[in-house]
Amino acid sequence: MREVADDVYHLSLSPRSSVNAYLLGDVLVDAGMSFMAGKVLSQVRGRVVAQHVLTHAHLDHAGGSRKVLDALRVPLRAGALDLPALHAGETWTELRGIVGRVGRRLSTYPPLPEAAALTPGEEIGPGFVVLDTPGHSAGHVSFWRERDGVLVCGDVVNAMNLKTTRPGLHAPPDAVTPDPARNRASIRRLAELEPRLLLAGHGPPMVNAQVPLTMMAGRLPED
Ligand SMILES: [Zn+2]
Repeated sequence: MREVADDVYHLSLSPRSSVNAYLLGDVLVDAGMSFMAGKVLSQVRGRVVAQHVLTHAHLDHAGGSRKVLDALRVPLRAGALDLPALHAGETWTELRGIVGRVGRRLSTYPPLPEAAALTPGEEIGPGFVVLDTPGHSAGHVSFWRERDGVLVCGDVVNAMNLKTTRPGLHAPPDAVTPDPARNRASIRRLAELEPRLLLAGHGPPMVNAQVPLTMMAGRLPED
């Protein structure tokens, strides 16, 4: 675990920071795949964790949450529209038809029936505000601290090429994003914040992110 901004810690859960969690003061953001829970717990050992929150209800973020909650006994919260998926332990509740059925079966994780709702605009941890950033999931949220421009954006933006693992900003693949146009709107909204430090679900922390994020948002297809 490494401090990347005042009272903000990066937990790299797999090589090249291809899966990340973060500790914002005493708030743990995301917990990786289910087999990564031990890595989360060992990295936060000795620190106070008062709450666990999720950027969104996908298995590579919420998969580790069951073991983390059982060990730490703290409340769990996430965006309201992702609660049905978390309660069921499902990733692709939005996908329909055969793809949805197969995808649902392959992407389950231990259910989190205790998950409660975060409210957009509320403050969590050391000065972060909850932002509603839907598209990659219906209830996807991000966490923004204006005073030093720190943005925890989940999978609204990937900070690496998921195939090559090369660092850089990319929209998440459409195949795993139920509403890509809505996600693009969320990317544009986040770019307007001009974050100085971008902390994504996948890829290393990016400093001076405002220019690359603005450029990337400008290259997106029009909606
Ligand atoms: Zn992800």
